[in-house]
Amino acid sequence: MVSGLRSISSACIGLGREYYRGIFPSAILEEVPADAPPLLLFDIDGTLMRKSGPHHRQVLVDAVKLVTGLEATTDHIPVQGMLDRDILAWMLRDAGAGKSLIKKWMPAVVEHAQRLYTECCPDLRRKVCPGVRPLLRLITGRGIRIGLVTGNLSAIGWKKVERAGIRDHFSFGAFAEEGKDRATLAARAIAHARRNRWITRDSMIVLFGDHENDILAAKANGIRSVAVATGLSRPDALLKLQPDFLLPDLRDCPLEEILS
Ligand SMILES: [Mg+2]
Repeated sequence: MVSGLRSISSACIGLGREYYRGIFPSAILEEVPADAPPLLLFDIDGTLMRKSGPHHRQVLVDAVKLVTGLEATTDHIPVQGMLDRDILAWMLRDAGAGKSLIKKWMPAVVEHAQRLYTECCPDLRRKVCPGVRPLLRLITGRGIRIGLVTGNLSAIGWKKVERAGIRDHFSFGAFAEEGKDRATLAARAIAHARRNRWITRDSMIVLFGDHENDILAAKANGIRSVAVATGLSRPDALLKLQPDFLLPDLRDCPLEEILS
C-alpha cells in the first residue's frame, strides 16, 4: 500500500500545495522563532512505529482475565485509531459484562494492563517507521518541542517509545486515560504546552498520525494535520478527510513546508 502510494506520487500530496521530494529542508531551515515556537504532536502506532501490536493486545486480554476472570479477545475489534480504554470496554462488553461492572473493573484492568506491558514489552527498535529517526533528530536539533498524542495508556505509550529508542525526543504526552477521544487528548496536550509557556497564540501546532481519527482530532482543535500512510488506513480514506498533508511515510518529510 505504502509503496503503491510512493509510486503514484513522486511528490508528497499536500492539499492546495505541492512538495517535491528531493528538496530536503534541513539546510534551509530557519531558527525557531522565539516569539512563536512550533509544537509537534505525534501518534505512536502506525505513525512512529508499526507492528508493535501483539504484546499490547495480549496484555489487554491478560489484564481483563486477571481482574475479572472473563475470557476476552481483541480479535474482532478494529483497534486502529481507538483509545485503549474504549478497546477494553468493548472487550468486556462482548465478554458479557454490563455497564456498571465495566465501570467498576476498569481502573484495575487499566492498572494491570500497564504493569503487564512494562514487564513484557519487546525490543521495538526495528519497528520504527521509515524516516522517523532522522525527522525526530532534525526537529529536536532545531529545539522544537515534541509531544505524544496517543490512544495508548500512558505507561504503555512511554514504554513503547523507550523500547523503540526514541524516548528522549518526547518531553510530554496525552494518553488514553486522559480523555474520551483523540480530540480531547490533543486539546490536553496543547493546553499543557500553553500552561508551560512552550507555545504562544501564534505558534504553529501540528499533529502527525496514520488514522482518520488523528486528522479529525487535529481539525477539532484547529491545528495542522499531517497524515502518514504507514498505518492500516488507506491513503484515499485519509485524503477524503482533507489533511493538510498526506505523506507516504516520514522519509524526506517536508518539515519546512509543514511549519510554514
Ligand atoms: Mg495510529
